[in-house]
Amino acid sequence: MNKFHYTSYNQEVIFGAGSLAHLSEVVDRFQWGRLMLLTGGSARRNGRVAQIEAALGPRLVATYDRVQPHVPDFQVAEAAALAIKNDIDALIGMGGGSPIGMAKAVSSALEEKHLGGQSHAASPRGSPLVPILAIPTTYAGSEMTTVFGVTHHNGGTAHKITATDARVTPRSVLYDPLLTLDLPPEMTATTGINALAHCIEALYSITRNPLSTAAALSGVRHIANSLTRCYAAGDDLQARTEMMTGSYLAGTALAHVAMGLHHGLCHVLGGSAGVPHGIANSIVLPHAMRYNLDATAPELARAAEAMGISQESRSPDSAAQAAVQRVSELIRQMHLPMRLRDAGVNEADLPLLAQLAVGSRAVQSNPKPISDAAQMEAILRAAW
Ligand code: NAD
Repeated sequence: MNKFHYTSYNQEVIFGAGSLAHLSEVVDRFQWGRLMLLTGGSARRNGRVAQIEAALGPRLVATYDRVQPHVPDFQVAEAAALAIKNDIDALIGMGGGSPIGMAKAVSSALEEKHLGGQSHAASPRGSPLVPILAIPTTYAGSEMTTVFGVTHHNGGTAHKITATDARVTPRSVLYDPLLTLDLPPEMTATTGINALAHCIEALYSITRNPLSTAAALSGVRHIANSLTRCYAAGDDLQARTEMMTGSYLAGTALAHVAMGLHHGLCHVLGGSAGVPHGIANSIVLPHAMRYNLDATAPELARAAEAMGISQESRSPDSAAQAAVQRVSELIRQMHLPMRLRDAGVNEADLPLLAQLAVGSRAVQSNPKPISDAAQMEAILRAAW
């Protein structure tokens, strides 16, 4: 890591149990007067939507509360139309990676709509027309990043396309561990493994830098310390707070580096095979680590150390292998599916999925090159 390139983003983070109470003051400070909330169905059922309505009063002018996983293109169009109809000036994405991704996709769609119009002239380069406030309730990490994916449904296979745009990075992020106390065990486990995967892929990323590495190592430590405690007792606020710290660090690392094989494969499995993102993460992570082991043993050995695995008289290879084993154990301990066949993926679809994955930008940035679809299919078959 003798050379690196680092970009920081204009973003505030407010972290702590009860931080949702700062929502109204944040909105006032940014002088947002007409907000739209994007969230999933569970937020209406568990009273979160009512909390936002109470905090914002008439400043909340629209709510789209049926965001589906993986940000389908037709929902982006619906939500953007609702935003235009209500002349909104800021978006709130509350929930997991899907509602936060939806907020980014809608902000981007509104920007596109205004491009060439009068309003664009008033928008200085680099600042979005419609900024985003993110309130994460899982550990997926999208709130910290410039990236969003939209699943397109035109013509045959659904296909998730990711885009990168610094303007859609949430301007303000409210991390409130209280909002995760009712995150069910399986979602806790899968989105927690998603956060761990961000740290692992940041550690061996070809574009890693000293800050991303520091964030990723600290993220691994916090996650290793708290994830199974959150899984076993969802209402353990101390464990939830530590886990959310880990997911913040993981998201921070993710935001500043190129991801690799793991990330690319999970996107294809989500967008084209309908596997929930966290489940895809749990199945793929040990396979991606194993594939990369010989090219990235020193980095995986650092992950092992951060997971508390003793390094005494171990070679980097042996420590890296111990890291893979520990991750597999963690996944097994939380009773998550470990094979693609158990997540509804058909064997007959593996060649097409391999083809799609090889074309992914993340796969092309993997530290150990993947030359063709046959090689990718072998990885998928091992995971099937
Ligand atoms: P999700 O947002 O799809 O949510 C899954 C389910 O969890 C939903 O049914 C939701 O209602 C429920 N849920 C969320 N919070 C809850 C809570 N506190 N209590 C009870 N139920 C709750 O899942 P996810 O794994 O968080 O996000 C996955 C999506 O995010 C994928 O589309 C993935 O590609 C994307 N993602 C993007 C980035 C990025 O940097 N852009 C990073 C990670 C993930």
